Amino acid sequence: MAKVKKKVKVIKIDVDKCNGCRACEVICSAFHATPQYSSNNPARSRIRVVRDPLRDVFLPVYAGERAPAECMGRDKYVIDGKEYDECSFCRAACSSRDIFKEPDSGLPLKCDMCESDPPLAQPMCVQWCLNDALVYEEREEEVEQEEKLGEMEIGLESLVSKYGLEKILDTVARMSKKA
Ligand code: SF4
Ligand code: SF4
Repeated sequence: MAKVKKKVKVIKIDVDKCNGCRACEVICSAFHATPQYSSNNPARSRIRVVRDPLRDVFLPVYAGERAPAECMGRDKYVIDGKEYDECSFCRAACSSRDIFKEPDSGLPLKCDMCESDPPLAQPMCVQWCLNDALVYEEREEEVEQEEKLGEMEIGLESLVSKYGLEKILDTVARMSKKA
């Protein structure tokens, strides 16, 4: 398969430098507001800071993929003697908690690295973090060229992820009997 160059964008998070100021949440929600910068609301931010000042816990977490179902088990981390609450490091919008969901529609939020035209030199949350807790890095990697899916395949893929392959095959079999 042909190899292509892919740009990998990384935000390095130094939790020891984060003081929980939440400037990253404010600017992310403002940058993504419609019209842009017309409002700010951390609940709409694609980065959330898990804060527990009494225990000196400040953990910035980026919104990733939506989880279609709650995990069967929970994880709990202890790092440098600090215990983090269950699911603290998880990036998913999930039915078990409220973060990373658009408050009005309930739709999942996902960090898009501030994709914009013209592109930004650095994502907004990185620019606004005055403590250097967020550091942006870019690199190029060679990857195999992905096959572009056609419209029908994209539609089928989303149906399969929603209903499961067996249900789709059953439905197609029933439909073909009627036809
Ligand atoms: S802006 Fe930086 S220091 Fe402030 S909460 Fe976000 S990551 Fe932490
Ligand atoms: S990179 Fe952009 S979209 Fe992602 S959390 Fe930071 S400000 Fe929000």
